[in-house]
Amino acid sequence: MYFHLILTDNCNLCCSYCRAKAFLDLDESEGERAVEIDENIPIELAYDPEVLYSFLRKDPAPTLTFYGGEPLLRADLIERIVREAPVHRFMMQTNGLLLDRLPADIINRFTTILVSLDGRKELTDANRGEGVYDRVMKNIRQIRANGYTGELIARMTVTERTDIVDTVHWLSGNPDHSFTSVHWQLDANFAGDFSQRTFAEWAADSYNPGIRTLVSDWVDHMESAGEVLRWYPFLDPMEDMLLDRKSLLRCGSGHANYSIMTDGHIAPCPVMIGMKQYYVGHIRDADPCRLGRIDIKGECSACHIRTFCGGRCLYSHITRPWDESGRHLVCETVENLHTALTNALPRVRSLISDGTITPGDFVHEKFNGCEIIP
Ligand code: SF4
Ligand code: SF4
Repeated sequence: MYFHLILTDNCNLCCSYCRAKAFLDLDESEGERAVEIDENIPIELAYDPEVLYSFLRKDPAPTLTFYGGEPLLRADLIERIVREAPVHRFMMQTNGLLLDRLPADIINRFTTILVSLDGRKELTDANRGEGVYDRVMKNIRQIRANGYTGELIARMTVTERTDIVDTVHWLSGNPDHSFTSVHWQLDANFAGDFSQRTFAEWAADSYNPGIRTLVSDWVDHMESAGEVLRWYPFLDPMEDMLLDRKSLLRCGSGHANYSIMTDGHIAPCPVMIGMKQYYVGHIRDADPCRLGRIDIKGECSACHIRTFCGGRCLYSHITRPWDESGRHLVCETVENLHTALTNALPRVRSLISDGTITPGDFVHEKFNGCEIIP
């Protein structure tokens, strides 16, 4: 099983699409009103790590992904847990600013590190703060120089400021970068800000056409270089299409990927902090191999691309921060992605048939922190 481990709710940034939204006057959301939040959940990890280890010992192959807030604010805990926990595979989602706080022998134990960056320096700094891009890139170069050979995923949050084609190519191709992979998530239907956005126009004029261009570029690169670029919103669904495999929620939340809160409760997803009616147990007595499944129902049940999309996001499905018209626009982006990949499938199959690429080129770690469907 995969577990996100929330070490702290504190963060050393206040990004425009994340914590800064707390200062906006947000739209009312019916779903959010109906969710009961445990306001007493501790900010910092508040249980004995030995309880966590006992829980993990009951799982034959646990994977632990450190998460926050910013997990590296608790570099002390990361170091301790990596040294002590009965876990073979560690991953981390970080903003990258404090990657220099961990010793190389600890960093080098990680199989995957997701680093939040939004593309070029100007855009990253505009969203995340002046000087962030340079500091993160310096740290990334340093961990590579210190021997980190694992997967390094550039994880973008995409907003109306993003030119998706330029940004994905920039993160993927800039030789100064050590990234092996790119993932992106739309800042859409996560907060009640639809009335303050220009999402509809941007999706129609920029994002959706950009996705069609990128899918075409992705397959062109397979043909010209014999390489399948690790662009996760394409890689994971395309592998399933090739294998004719149906998918549940692609981030794994609520069926393969659970999150351990700072008080030891287990939630389906790392964002569902304090949403106690969705908790599936507590590490002191739960069996990690028999955790309850939380399924996406509602409008997704009848959707014709349900087994491609998986339902996109459990958190936003429950909280419904955008109204029906906003949600429909987000689903249209999924439909656009599905159509672009479906249209590319015959070409991909033909490149496999002629030996330019192999099915193994699509193999990747599932539930590695990428939401997959943006
Ligand atoms: S496209 Fe929309 S309705 Fe369809 S499964 Fe995904 S989130 Fe649900
Ligand atoms: S996509 Fe949604 S359900 Fe999945 S991890 Fe992200 S917030 Fe949670």
